[in-house]
Amino acid sequence: MSKIQNIGVLTSGGDAPGMNAAIRAVVRASLYYKLKVTGVLRGYEGLINADFIPMDEKSVANIIQRGGTMLKTARCNEFKTPEGRAKAYENLMASEINALVVIGGDGTFIGADIFSQEYNFPIIGLPGTIDNDLEGTDLTIGYDTAINTVVSAVDKIRDTAESHDRFFIVEVMGRDSGLIALRSGIGVGAEAILIPEAKTGIDDLIERVKHGRKDKSSKIIVVAEGDEAGGAYNVGEILKNKFPHHDIRVSVLGHIQRGGSPSCADRVLASRLGVAAVEGLLEGKTKVMAGQVNKEIVFTPFSRTTKHIDAMQITPAWLKLAEILSL
Ligand code: ADP
Repeated sequence: MSKIQNIGVLTSGGDAPGMNAAIRAVVRASLYYKLKVTGVLRGYEGLINADFIPMDEKSVANIIQRGGTMLKTARCNEFKTPEGRAKAYENLMASEINALVVIGGDGTFIGADIFSQEYNFPIIGLPGTIDNDLEGTDLTIGYDTAINTVVSAVDKIRDTAESHDRFFIVEVMGRDSGLIALRSGIGVGAEAILIPEAKTGIDDLIERVKHGRKDKSSKIIVVAEGDEAGGAYNVGEILKNKFPHHDIRVSVLGHIQRGGSPSCADRVLASRLGVAAVEGLLEGKTKVMAGQVNKEIVFTPFSRTTKHIDAMQITPAWLKLAEILSL
């Protein structure tokens, strides 16, 4: 019989839509398997401060459709120190919590990996991030919602851009990766997409504006915040200087991309992975992230889930696709 009787669940790092659906699945699965389940508030900070709340079926009622995270999230530097992690362990022992499900991104998994090794403590991770940048899952919880949020915002911008014959430079999230910009850019029919992985950059954009179709009354240029041109305001300034006769506006979408009701795809992914995490712990799995690859549940060691730009997601073929469609 498994020694696990009380599972702690927390959300950590950047929030993502669908985290609540994941919490709900962990709680309901724990109760289904006759385990206790404890909510930990504000990620690793809650472990260090013993901010624990007992959870039951009702505590996760009516949250599957809500954005954000009911357990709150935080970035916690103290957990990076051995002293901080020692406090966390003492609190877990005192509350008789004997396994954890941590929902977050690569930073959360690095912390979980260290803690789990130090104290031989069972932990399974769930991929909760809008960035879709973790190895071991085709999609992360929150990504689908985030790109749909971008698409619906840019569709609205397109309406006003078209009415006024304007250019809009729209900045989307992605400090290290242009994935959100590339996929949502294709989704909105952008005239150009600037991402850190494509080195064509601002000069190419200027050429395309110079020689591009003149009959288009609006143009949408989607820029990833990490693009080397330096974000949408910089791109806007450069274009305004080059093309003073064009009406050029800038819109930075910002944090709306993290919020909002999760899409059905994110709710279903979070639900499936949440149950898999509890079942995985009961089977003795630890130091792994539960993900979905080719429709199957896959457990990947934390050591391999570290942030990376997945070469499968931004390939020359994807860049060519964007170029063909942007004429
Ligand atoms: P995300 O999980 O979204 O990538 P962060 O990178 O902010 O977010 O990481 C979340 C938390 O994970 C950090 O605030 C910290 O508490 C913990 N963490 C990250 N790196 C380490 C580390 N090297 N050692 C211990 N804990 C870490």
